[in-house]
Amino acid sequence: MYRIKIDRSRCIGCLTCVTACVVSHETESTDARNRVVIDSETRPAPIFCRHCERPECVYTCMTGAMKKNPQTGYVEYDKEQCASCYMCIMSCPYGILKYDSIRNVEIMKCNMCVHRTEDGSANPMCVEKCPMQAITLEEVRES
Ligand code: SF4
Ligand code: SF4
Ligand code: SF4
Repeated sequence: MYRIKIDRSRCIGCLTCVTACVVSHETESTDARNRVVIDSETRPAPIFCRHCERPECVYTCMTGAMKKNPQTGYVEYDKEQCASCYMCIMSCPYGILKYDSIRNVEIMKCNMCVHRTEDGSANPMCVEKCPMQAITLEEVRES
């Protein structure tokens, strides 16, 4: 299983990762599925979906639109099943989820850029484009 590892000490707050996310999904939306905030020490802090082992967004979703893929461990979102109730947005402990800025109905959810590969493996454009290697793809084990 793969996750995006964040090294805040390397981040310069250039927002290339945010732009990369928009470009990666430009045929579906105009919003990024990640963000960079300023922390209490005025340092840039990239925030990405953690594809949590016990994902609150999945637990609170009443329609099954948010699901944990048992093979990849990724938390997947199906907009066709979404009722736009925003429960996932309210429950995410990292505050990463948001609705799309145009229609306010679709949840902007990181999909690890699996649409960029033929076999559905992860290929995050944000990781590829970060000039500082502040975000990297790492293999993890879930218990
Ligand atoms: S692209 Fe890299 S250095 Fe730039 S804001 Fe994103 S994580 Fe930080
Ligand atoms: S992996 Fe893809 S969808 Fe997820 S934050 Fe990076 S660019 Fe966006
Ligand atoms: S959206 Fe939030 S709660 Fe859901 S998997 Fe990502 S970080 Fe975890």
